[in-house]
Amino acid sequence: MPLKAEPIVLSFEHLYATLPKPLWVATQATPVAQPELIAFNASLADELGAKEIPDPTTLAQWFSGNQAMPGAKSGALGYAGHQFGNFVPQLGDGRALLLGEVIDQNGLRRDVQLKGSGRTPFSRGGDGRSPLGPVLREYLVSEFMAAMGIPTTRALAAVTSGERVVRQMAEPGAVFTRVASSHIRVGTFQFAAAQRNEALLKALADHVIDRHYPEAVNAEDPYMALLEAVVARQAELIARWMSVGFIHGVMNTDNCSIAGETIDYGPCAFMEQFDPQKVYSSIDQGRRYAFANQPAIAQWNLARFAETLLPLMREEGDALVQQATDVIRRFESLFSAEQLRLHADKLGLAAKSPQAAPLMESLESQMHQGRMDMTATFDALTHYAFSPSDEHREALLALTTQPNELTAWLETWQAEQVASQDSQRSAAMRNANPVIIPRNHRVQEVIDAAYQGDFAPFHTLLAVVTQPFDESVEARRLAAPATENEQVLRTFCGT
Ligand code: AMP
Ligand code: MG
Repeated sequence: MPLKAEPIVLSFEHLYATLPKPLWVATQATPVAQPELIAFNASLADELGAKEIPDPTTLAQWFSGNQAMPGAKSGALGYAGHQFGNFVPQLGDGRALLLGEVIDQNGLRRDVQLKGSGRTPFSRGGDGRSPLGPVLREYLVSEFMAAMGIPTTRALAAVTSGERVVRQMAEPGAVFTRVASSHIRVGTFQFAAAQRNEALLKALADHVIDRHYPEAVNAEDPYMALLEAVVARQAELIARWMSVGFIHGVMNTDNCSIAGETIDYGPCAFMEQFDPQKVYSSIDQGRRYAFANQPAIAQWNLARFAETLLPLMREEGDALVQQATDVIRRFESLFSAEQLRLHADKLGLAAKSPQAAPLMESLESQMHQGRMDMTATFDALTHYAFSPSDEHREALLALTTQPNELTAWLETWQAEQVASQDSQRSAAMRNANPVIIPRNHRVQEVIDAAYQGDFAPFHTLLAVVTQPFDESVEARRLAAPATENEQVLRTFCGT
């Protein structure tokens, strides 16, 4: 009888699993009742070097954890974290499993992880499961971020479990498969530091340098260079988030990726009407993670990262603390420089225009006071920059409750903007201003339909948010800001 060859989808390696316990603990998925495939990201699979894609039934078995993927060796990662400022020495993957790493087409090592696959040694009181809503939200938002070129974990697959999970009420369960440059967080370093085992900490830091920041190895102090590199990546990331109105919602140190990717989407949301103090997450009652607080919080998280690295660094005593503090302070100038660059792009100005900062500041205050939708404003401004017709001007002025002020602003801006005459700047302006974002009410609509068994709205929204500069009729419909009745005021993390 001829042997039936197993289709090889991913060629797994297991470098993280060579690190000492308890950074990685072997553990298995708990099977679910009836896995059914919702979505599989074939282009990402291709990027990961997948050779042969099996049928949806096999995919559902694999990406629910019901059947081990060939070559996978599952384990949970240990990490600690400051949650809303309070230190918890042991969190870890309570409902996630690392299957292994894959070397992608660009030669980069990427983690493949199941989320919602059952209890692990780190589950504490949790059920190890995930409701369908947060799985769909993470799929949509992370793939939108990727389409915008914003560093992020990716969505490889989503599967319904055929089981219910109980949160505020019973909800359908699901398993999400995500791909990350790694799942190493500031909290992973805090966990290693809390073990009071310098060899463990050093093994982790060396792994990270080798994997994410190989140039640091040649620095006078590789661990200081590691800190510098992570600070730079985070500064850039937060500036990119804010340029599209993204509010992460739970910027705990355990949700802060060392590779500088957006990770753990939870109750994230995009700001609609511009408001620096905006918060959507139901659990962020102190408004710690409000839109405009994000840079200061990222910097605070990086200071916690720096503290864990101090024992490995070369200098000692006050001089060491001073050096590390200077590196953390540099976050501010790196963030500002990146933000300025993005603001010039968003406004269609020359790359180093000295007017970018004052013009953006005054537009932000107009958006705030005039109750303007951030995404719609920049989209309309892009249209007006490319073709300054009365129609485009009216469309823009219709977005504010204070048209006279905006008219005055437009005159100052027009004297500066170059996007319409300079093809490079015009491409930069378009690419900085998406037509569509995954709006909260649209994401909610998709989740509501899925809870009724209808996944068509999910696939439609996914198709348009992953082409965020397209202007199809469908995209325009789904891009429109929420009406008063449609507004989603609160989001939940679903844990
Ligand atoms: P999160 O808020 O999703 O970033 O999770 C914070 C911590 O709680 C992490 O250690 C998670 O693994 C854990 N956790 C969240 N939800 C669950 C769950 N349903 N079961 C077990 N652990 C969970
Ligand atoms: Mg988390």
